[in-house]
Amino acid sequence: MDLIEKKIQLEEIEKEIASCQFCPLSKTRLKTVPGEGNSDADIMFIGEAPGQREDEEGRPFCGHAGNFLDQLLDSINLVRADVFIANTLKCRPPANRDPLPEEKSACRKYLEQQLRIINPKIIVTLGRHSTETYLPGLGGITKLRAKLYKRPNGLNFFPLYHPAAALHNGSMRQTLIDDFAKLPTAINKIKAETEKTNVDKVKQEKLF
Ligand code: URA
Repeated sequence: MDLIEKKIQLEEIEKEIASCQFCPLSKTRLKTVPGEGNSDADIMFIGEAPGQREDEEGRPFCGHAGNFLDQLLDSINLVRADVFIANTLKCRPPANRDPLPEEKSACRKYLEQQLRIINPKIIVTLGRHSTETYLPGLGGITKLRAKLYKRPNGLNFFPLYHPAAALHNGSMRQTLIDDFAKLPTAINKIKAETEKTNVDKVKQEKLF
């Protein structure tokens, strides 16, 4: 799919999200927060859910956690425009409570559609909720963090601590900074493997 087609399809999903009424969060939200960034990104970040600022502005990670995420991106020479940032929920849970299982499942189809269109090389799940959604039953975030998980559907996951959790916790903050620094190596590994698979395919085709 070319970039223009990706943009068109992502805009269609945004419109659908804006009028979504699949769960009761549609009654309390101010704005939907579909996610934003590069439609052709190699890296897609998936956070938990919009907070107050995000609900007001309709953009993901625009509060303190977002500033920290920007710093983390800068530490590996990236800016927001290079990546795509979304959440497991597109609407704010009242008083920032944890997302409910039924809210996550009602919202999941949007994220699945965005993933299919963007087709990122790596999906960084930020925090427990996002990680549990995509890597269920494997263990907690402390065990899973900063390792690459290849799923049979071809998606590659790299869980990290949530920037909001790490923001004011000295040791967790440093761990997140250190883990973030491992992201470029993980992406290069995936790119090298994809190239090798493509070369092998061409070789196979030439044999026949
Ligand atoms: N925390 C999240 O998980 N997502 C946001 O968009 C903001 C804060």
